[in-house]
Amino acid sequence: MADDWRARGGPIAVLTGAGISTDSGIPDFRGPQGVWTKNPIAELTANYRDYLANPGLRERSWAARRDNPAWRAERNAGHRALVDLERSGRSVRILTQNIDRLHQKAGSSARKVLELHGNMFEVVCVRCGARGAMRETLDRVAAGEPDPPCRECGGILKSATVMFGQALDEDVIAHAALYARASEIFLAVGTSLRVHPVAGLCEVAVEAGVALVIVNNEPTPYDGLATEVVREPISEALLRIVAELIAVG
Ligand SMILES: [Zn+2]
Repeated sequence: MADDWRARGGPIAVLTGAGISTDSGIPDFRGPQGVWTKNPIAELTANYRDYLANPGLRERSWAARRDNPAWRAERNAGHRALVDLERSGRSVRILTQNIDRLHQKAGSSARKVLELHGNMFEVVCVRCGARGAMRETLDRVAAGEPDPPCRECGGILKSATVMFGQALDEDVIAHAALYARASEIFLAVGTSLRVHPVAGLCEVAVEAGVALVIVNNEPTPYDGLATEVVREPISEALLRIVAELIAVG
């Protein structure tokens, strides 16, 4: 059985995608119940160029942000398993594609969590880069500003997330690659591994001799590179894997 990766000591990098948050009631994007599968129009609100060009789309985006299930979502057993792993003394870095901050809510150290696609609890001005709290901006929407402009410069505001058509923060992706290379185990959890450059982190890890373990309900383009592919439900799989890793020490 190819399970000797569990015996590897050393740092673990965990890449997480939407699949780890579905047990918290946050739908994923491309799965059978995914937001974009059920409502292709919703994907447009995530496209940066359209967002800049279309005030009506921005108004719908603010409404969608207000209604985002992440405001009410609670951490789940999968998030907690990763907290247990960190607290066992193991070096754990979480590289997340999620914008819901549930890893931090669950108790993972904020400095150990790299938000690859930003987060939905802040806003940023596309012109001057000023940042603010999403909640305050949504209060402005509720008070009658359908598309509130930046208070510093009047520019367009958006959530502090990476939309389609927008490049990832170079510093963030460079750090992610560094953690991928420096780990002994690279665990990819609940991500379809179809969005680049994040998906490419799997290759970065494998080329550095890191054991790639993929936990996902659906096949991914990187399954062939993986030391092990796990198809169990994500929370259950993480509970089991973390228990095994802690037992090995
Ligand atoms: Zn501004």
